[in-house]
Amino acid sequence: VYVVTDACVDVQDRSCVEECPVDCIYEGDRMMYIHPDECVDCGRCEPACPVMSIFHEEDLPAEATRFAEINAEFFADL
Ligand code: SF4
Repeated sequence: VYVVTDACVDVQDRSCVEECPVDCIYEGDRMMYIHPDECVDCGRCEPACPVMSIFHEEDLPAEATRFAEINAEFFADL
């Protein structure tokens, strides 16, 4: 599963949305979020992001590991 991190906050370039084959990247108030149950791990969104905010959950930088949970929680609240 891929994860959007804080580099996306107030950027929301949305290039990733166009790349995602299953439309699992959703827009929140201040950043985009990837639905963990819908992502098929294709990796296409990662290089599309101009601010490098997207990582595979296993490759998250140490300071951004909490974003795996933050992405999942966005959908739990819907
Ligand atoms: Fe969509 Fe693929 Fe990115 Fe998952 S890895 S969010 S399926 S583009």
